[in-house]
Amino acid sequence: MNKMPLAKFIRLMPKVELHVHLEGSIRPETLLTLAERNDVALPANTTEGLQEWYQFSSFAHFIEVYFAICNCIRTPDDFEFIATEFLRHQSEQNIKYSEVIFTPYTHREHVTFDEQLAAINRARQQAETSLGVRMALAPDISRQVRPVETSLLVADWAAQNMGNGIIALGLGGPEVDNPPELFQETFQRARAEGLPSLPHAGETEGAKSIWGAINTLSAVRVGHGVRCLEDPELVAFLREKQIPLEVCPSSNVCLGVVPTLAEHPLPKLLEEGLFVTISSDDPPMFDTTLTDEYLRITETFGFGITQIKQFVSNGIQASLLSSGEQRALESEFRTQFVELENELGL
Ligand SMILES: [Zn+2]
Repeated sequence: MNKMPLAKFIRLMPKVELHVHLEGSIRPETLLTLAERNDVALPANTTEGLQEWYQFSSFAHFIEVYFAICNCIRTPDDFEFIATEFLRHQSEQNIKYSEVIFTPYTHREHVTFDEQLAAINRARQQAETSLGVRMALAPDISRQVRPVETSLLVADWAAQNMGNGIIALGLGGPEVDNPPELFQETFQRARAEGLPSLPHAGETEGAKSIWGAINTLSAVRVGHGVRCLEDPELVAFLREKQIPLEVCPSSNVCLGVVPTLAEHPLPKLLEEGLFVTISSDDPPMFDTTLTDEYLRITETFGFGITQIKQFVSNGIQASLLSSGEQRALESEFRTQFVELENELGL
């Protein structure tokens, strides 16, 4: 098959995204506006300069950039602005539905949890009306938070706001030395209130961390999870239960989980019969977009249109939308797939 129509199909096809961070999606031009607005000094004061500073060089640099970005978010208006920009870029990629992670505790000194959510919800509702794109929110807890009891604040608040844009509780931050077991009580409490768990696991730590996310936090999906392949028993378990993995290929390469994209275990995960979805994680920081992730894996692994459509469909099925909403989205996407295939002669 000619490659060009497939690339075009990928650009135009409707998509969903299940693992993307709001703060990690702030583009250099948006960051520049925030920094000027709030009079915060950054290492560069042009879009090009910031673009260069964003370039991934090491994990330490990644964290430095991440916190510098967070430090530029100071007001409810800033939250509305970043969420509006985020949704505009999702819309440009025809991402119809996103489940979006953000870290409320990081911003608490400037903006209360409630103000953060209200501002993001204004952008969410506006985008739904004007662009026809939807998102739902998964506030997360940083594994570094101490004392660990502090995380209960986020869990309780998130549970109170189910139905107000919030659909799950996440766990992010450095995996090494911060095992899921530390947060057992926090997630138990959220679950008792009906809030599902979406922890990161199996990225910079191995299978043990994924087992912990499943057994102690009752993860309904695993953020990354690519290192499950280190434990055949875990692979068998994930296959049997069809627990979805949120695979973010470029992020894995940048963070050194795998040396190159060609060595990424994505084909192996599929061979093992695991439930794989594709996401971009922190797109501008890893010099990618969800569209680029699809283009890169297609180019690298030679996937055909059937596999690409399967990834998209997996995203719908692994989402936390109700089964009725999933069916509606599936049917809408199927119609658009057929139209696009006819148009592009695929
Ligand atoms: Zn992530």
